Amino acid sequence: MRGGSYARVLAALLLVVTACTAGSSDPDPEPSTSTAAPTSTTPTTEVPEPNAPADLILHNAQVVTVDQDFTIAGAVAITDGDIVALGTSEELMALAGPDTLVIDVGGRTVMPGFVDPHTHHLQNPAPDLDGMRDGIAFMLKGGTTTSGAPTVFPDELEAYRRLDAAGELPVRTHLYLSYNDFCNGRDHDDFYLEDEFSQDADLRLVVAGVKMFSDGGACRAPAISHEYLDTTPDHLKEVGWVGSGDLYVTSEEVASVVSEVDAAGGITVIHGIGDLGLREAINGLAIASERRPFAQHQRIDHNSLTTLLTPDELSIYGDIGMVPVVFGVRWAGACDPSVGEAWKSILSPPVLGVIENSTALRAANPGIRLSWHGDAPSIPGQPFQLMFSFVTDGAVDIDTGEACYPAAWDGVPTVDVEEALRMMTVNAAAAMGIEERVGSLEVGRVADLLILAADPFDPDPEVGIAANRPLVTVIDGEAVYCEGALCDQFGAAGKPEQADEPPPDVPEGWEPVDHPVVVAVQASASIEPPANTLDGSEETLWNSGADAQQWIEFDLGTPTDVDLIRLLVSQYPGGVTRHEVYAGAHEDPGRFIATIEGETNDRDRLEVEIGATVRYIRILTTSSPSWVAWFEIEVEPTG
Ligand SMILES: [Zn+2]
Repeated sequence: MRGGSYARVLAALLLVVTACTAGSSDPDPEPSTSTAAPTSTTPTTEVPEPNAPADLILHNAQVVTVDQDFTIAGAVAITDGDIVALGTSEELMALAGPDTLVIDVGGRTVMPGFVDPHTHHLQNPAPDLDGMRDGIAFMLKGGTTTSGAPTVFPDELEAYRRLDAAGELPVRTHLYLSYNDFCNGRDHDDFYLEDEFSQDADLRLVVAGVKMFSDGGACRAPAISHEYLDTTPDHLKEVGWVGSGDLYVTSEEVASVVSEVDAAGGITVIHGIGDLGLREAINGLAIASERRPFAQHQRIDHNSLTTLLTPDELSIYGDIGMVPVVFGVRWAGACDPSVGEAWKSILSPPVLGVIENSTALRAANPGIRLSWHGDAPSIPGQPFQLMFSFVTDGAVDIDTGEACYPAAWDGVPTVDVEEALRMMTVNAAAAMGIEERVGSLEVGRVADLLILAADPFDPDPEVGIAANRPLVTVIDGEAVYCEGALCDQFGAAGKPEQADEPPPDVPEGWEPVDHPVVVAVQASASIEPPANTLDGSEETLWNSGADAQQWIEFDLGTPTDVDLIRLLVSQYPGGVTRHEVYAGAHEDPGRFIATIEGETNDRDRLEVEIGATVRYIRILTTSSPSWVAWFEIEVEPTG
């Protein structure tokens, strides 16, 4: 299988559901304060020397700086990609020189770009470059200017580097290399330590650290101290949602990896959903920081069942200065009322009642900063659509854009708009260890900012948040996305840069087939169709989305003298596989050609001699440790 993207998506879905159930029966809600006004409206003026005109001035704005005091300014000036001044429009116009681009934003809100420390917008399509390009475009449109990509696998790293080298990766991207995978596979050994770690916020691409799974949730089940109910649906039981779930690590193992990665300048991002996984993670962090105080911002992501940890365990979060990365209270795209109901068949009431991911953390650590994460695609939607579910008891239907208010979520605690903005910008940057440069609009920080269609403090959160979006997304002072009249104001500077010709996908020695070939398959994952095996691209694949046995069949259109076929393996994890090749003059050909049997790994190349005149060729995979999939299959005619 290319367990690849599909397994990950599935994992994410399961994980989302966990999160969802979370708040649904919280008995003691806090009132929503989504219409609260900003805390400070006194602009801080920091004007540089008058003899240094700025490159860009945005004025007549409501600049929500998200600095310590949540200051609101009227204008911002930018030079060399950094913020050089904030103040009133009048003050900053003094910085305009003959070459300064001065833009009147018409009173609109300007805020820092969203920082999403844990998203799979790029990782799930990787290494498919076109899919990654789509992910980048989606992020820029929604205003995500910095992202963390957890669980990067050996076969994906190169794709990020290719995009970056081609200037196609405007979003600041921090990669976390896989220590173990979501199923707790450890078949890539010391890959996680192979690269040099960096937290350099001025680079668009860095390998920032390591991703470790402490328990299931993205594969198998979160490890919880209460057993999953007998009424859990069979399809979940089959993948491990029984007993107490799946614990992957001990605190000692966590401590040793975290110490090793911290000493090398990296951040270990620990996936923790169930309380048993969280317990090993937090105790491991305590052991490691006892041995040597952390130099980097070590962290736990998800934190769904922290409410089942003891106060002593919870206080470790604050003691080691962690900025925990949590789901928002609810998520966008979940207007289907059955979603919350399904969880009552899976989790017992004591667990169901306490799956709320930040109340206990906040209570045990007064003043702790929490970061959000989007965790796309498990939670679909753009940042403002998710924010709506943090600050109201509603959600946004991703298909229609309409707000909905599922009854299951009545009374779930919310945060106010200011706190939501902090969680989604500066706190997230702190979780990633880059808040000195990223996350707030302050002098000396990077000019990553958004000009918004609506005011997020609009008294109606459906207007100010659910339907809000960036009109312009700016990274390092350059507009990388824009829509509407402001595009014209940005002029040449505002036009998204045209990417250079993408690097060729077709490697040497692999020619696309040049005759028509119809493909039939037993099963297929719709996003990875069978035609991908014949498109000449080693980046795209056919994925059956199912375990063996599975077959794929080619129709050469006419009887053809075939010398051999070449196959490029798509298989994660690797292992012993067995394939049978058949060929003949009719569909479902009965003529047995060969068996291919042995240990194969992702991107291995196989060859099978045919040496016959045939029209149909079928490859039947009879056993494999992963879903049946192929990147490419090439038919070589004789001569
Ligand atoms: Zn994730």
